[in-house]
Amino acid sequence: MVATVAFGMGIDKPNVRFVAHLDLPKSMEGYYQETGRAGRDGLPADAWMVYGLGDVVSMRQMLEGSDTPEERKRLEQQKLNALLGYCESTACRHQTILRYFSEEHPGDCQQCDNCLHPVETWDGTEAARMALSCVYRSGQRFGAGHLIDILLGKATAQVTRFQHNTLSTFGIGQSLNQAQWSSVFRQLVAAGFLEADMEAYGGLRLTALARPLLKGETNIWLRRDPQTSKLSKAERASRHKEAFAGANDDPLWQALKAKRMELAREQEVPPYVIFHDSTLLEILNQRPGSLTEMSRISGVGAAKLERYGDAFLEVLEEFAR
Ligand SMILES: [Zn+2]
Repeated sequence: MVATVAFGMGIDKPNVRFVAHLDLPKSMEGYYQETGRAGRDGLPADAWMVYGLGDVVSMRQMLEGSDTPEERKRLEQQKLNALLGYCESTACRHQTILRYFSEEHPGDCQQCDNCLHPVETWDGTEAARMALSCVYRSGQRFGAGHLIDILLGKATAQVTRFQHNTLSTFGIGQSLNQAQWSSVFRQLVAAGFLEADMEAYGGLRLTALARPLLKGETNIWLRRDPQTSKLSKAERASRHKEAFAGANDDPLWQALKAKRMELAREQEVPPYVIFHDSTLLEILNQRPGSLTEMSRISGVGAAKLERYGDAFLEVLEEFAR
């Protein structure tokens, strides 16, 4: 089953394995609640989020453009800042989340992307100054794409039309590539050095924070975006294996699987159509003694209970004897 966020909190489905955020949640509270739908059964589950400069700009625009009272807007801005800080964090994600809720996680979790693939940081002061100066000199009304063209010295049609090839910042940023500049701009917006101007169609302009950085009074460290932060196939397989490690040596587990295979062959369907592994694992761990007890196991709906309940109870009884 694949569901959207409309799949509400009222439904207590414990074996959700994957939560994907294609849009940013509005706050850490929202993120925690939404990702918390995965893995309630205690088995491994993944939370995955895509996030880029465009999301930061549009979230900030949405907030600025709404007609909520100023005070409420500031509060929402702070909540969004905390979430963006989490996105850009180079520390353990579990620690970062718990710290936000004033709790502690003992040590690194060794399960999040930052633990599995530690992120390097680099002194981005010089790059940030080039970026901010480029924003300033081009009139504080262009988006990151155009600004990066100027920094890289690309005389595109738009760059020449505005004579931005004559700016002192034209071509000064060739030590970084397109993706690296995009990362610099994203982090500058996320950290509040730049903001999207509603009246200039989301063009970037300097904030008060930018001044000390431009003047060389402060430094900034940036995260070096990894090439890929995905769990490798091998890591995923090993996590899955771990969850079932105890079960594999258990003869009852083998018997339950054999029964499932037998039913699957009879009905000419793949075994997971009878019961998912996680359901079978719960049967193994809970050892239900009756149909009522079995009905409480997640993945055992009324129809499956009627069709397969007795067959699996027989296996359990046989083992109990
Ligand atoms: Zn971690």
